[in-house]
Amino acid sequence: MKQKPPANKGDIIELEITGFAHDGAGVGKYEGFTVFVPQTVPGEKVRTRLTVVKKTYGKASCLEILKTHPHRTEPQCPVYEICGGCQIQHISYEAQLEHKRQQVMDHFTRIGGMEVPVHPVLGMNDPWRYRNKAQVPFGVQKGKVAAGFYAPGTHQIVNMDACLIQHELNDQVIRKVKQLAQRLKTPIYDEQKHRGILRHVMVRTGYSTGECMIVLVTNGRKLPYRQKWIEELRREFPQLKSLMQNIHHRRSNVVLGPENQVLWGREVVYDRIGDVTFAISPHSFFQINPVQTRVLYDQVAKYAALTGGETVIDAYCGIGTIALYLARHAKRVYGVEIVPAAIKDAKRNAEINRMDHVTFEAGAAEEIMPRWYQEGIRPDVVVVDPPRKGCDPLLLDTVASMQPGRIVYVSCNSSTLARDAKYLAELGYRVREVQPVDMFPQTGHVECVMLMTNVKNK
Ligand code: SAH
Repeated sequence: MKQKPPANKGDIIELEITGFAHDGAGVGKYEGFTVFVPQTVPGEKVRTRLTVVKKTYGKASCLEILKTHPHRTEPQCPVYEICGGCQIQHISYEAQLEHKRQQVMDHFTRIGGMEVPVHPVLGMNDPWRYRNKAQVPFGVQKGKVAAGFYAPGTHQIVNMDACLIQHELNDQVIRKVKQLAQRLKTPIYDEQKHRGILRHVMVRTGYSTGECMIVLVTNGRKLPYRQKWIEELRREFPQLKSLMQNIHHRRSNVVLGPENQVLWGREVVYDRIGDVTFAISPHSFFQINPVQTRVLYDQVAKYAALTGGETVIDAYCGIGTIALYLARHAKRVYGVEIVPAAIKDAKRNAEINRMDHVTFEAGAAEEIMPRWYQEGIRPDVVVVDPPRKGCDPLLLDTVASMQPGRIVYVSCNSSTLARDAKYLAELGYRVREVQPVDMFPQTGHVECVMLMTNVKNK
């Protein structure tokens, strides 16, 4: 039988912070019991109050830092302590990178059961203002329209005027939309009562093109003063190329509803990574840090080591970004992705870039890949870039049956990466190296690129 936790909710306890959790919180042990404490630094000693006590772990808030670590730094954002957006602004950037690397190494040792070379994290020269996309909910506070991210673990909006990791233009758009909603008296959506109109605004700015997309997410089709909204936003933002209304009338935490309508302009914005151009629509996944996306994709290209004659599969391809980035150096490329709208964009992107040796299919990778295998497709390189939960075992089995010389695994969650690496190791692949890339400075997220090669080949 499991032991009872050694302390209760509300208790005040002292802890030594020894590790770093996936969400950026510090981790310590209290009489063997694991406790997560946000906004602390490994190496610190802290006095905390337990806020959550579960059977196997607890959470605590930091009351006092008894021993400060030299890596601690003054957070730059005025709402950092209450907003849920960033988790590690209180740690110097160099130390953030080192903690992320350590976390990846720990996952490979603990979950993967293997020691692998993990390179120092490739970080940014300027780790601020990097995000090309913002999606912000609206609320009403003291009779005024508020917009900002939710405080951690709540649906309480932390009203903000600027977000220091957002592209400057995204901030300006959010401020303007907030002002307009106030002036035009647009009813703000109330999620408790499920009434009102304006739910969220989503903004996307193309880093290389400067083009901007604004999506007003509304509960139902009505948008009072529609024409006024269009005129004002067009006048204020010459960079605006696409103004959309997303219709979302369900009770749900998902930001976007199923249907988009063009209010003005195009239904996509364009952006470039290297010399490849991409059309991006509201529902499509597109990496949010364009500067580091280039670094990430160059790393993928390096590990793919293409010479022009290869067949490549890009599984979980989104709008075809990696597939098209690699296609310049491959004979044949296949991409598969589960969101049909993204595949529509991917096909359009292949046309824009005049790449007719690339085929895209919509569907679950674990269903399409076995069919490709049966059809006799034998890739030299397989790239996978799954969501946080990692790859389906059926997909990994199929990849191994295809016997590519190289597997390049892009991952936003190093614990599922390590798990899948272990699985592939049992199927005859060996981890050569892992290169973390810092796609999300100031937050706890770590992105990795891993190279595995077929043991038989080398
Ligand atoms: N490689 C792309 C996208 C990576 S994000 C890029 O760099 O931009 C992961 C993608 O996997 C998302 O687009 C998501 O829609 C897709 N996805 C999730 N589950 C999937 C599945 N079972 N099969 C195929 N694609 C899936």
